[in-house]
Amino acid sequence: MKRRRAVKQQLVAEAGGAHERCGYDRYLGALAFHHRDPEAKRFSISQAGVARSIERARAEAAKCILLCSNCHAEGESGGSMKPPV
Ligand SMILES: [Zn+2]
Repeated sequence: MKRRRAVKQQLVAEAGGAHERCGYDRYLGALAFHHRDPEAKRFSISQAGVARSIERARAEAAKCILLCSNCHAEGESGGSMKPPV
């Protein structure tokens, strides 16, 4: 568990340590790697530290953008600010 968090922490730091768009950097657990290419979704960074090397995880992180959970949730809903009806 410790190693898993260390891998993510390292990759987040390498990605700038914060969500670029809004500058969110308060909680590591609210930052996530999101694949730019939807077809490359097979791999989840959150599982990266378990059996794979940080080199492998880093290669995948390079294909991702770092998002905070707020902006990620907005993106998943299509970016609309309209409240659900
Ligand atoms: Zn954000």
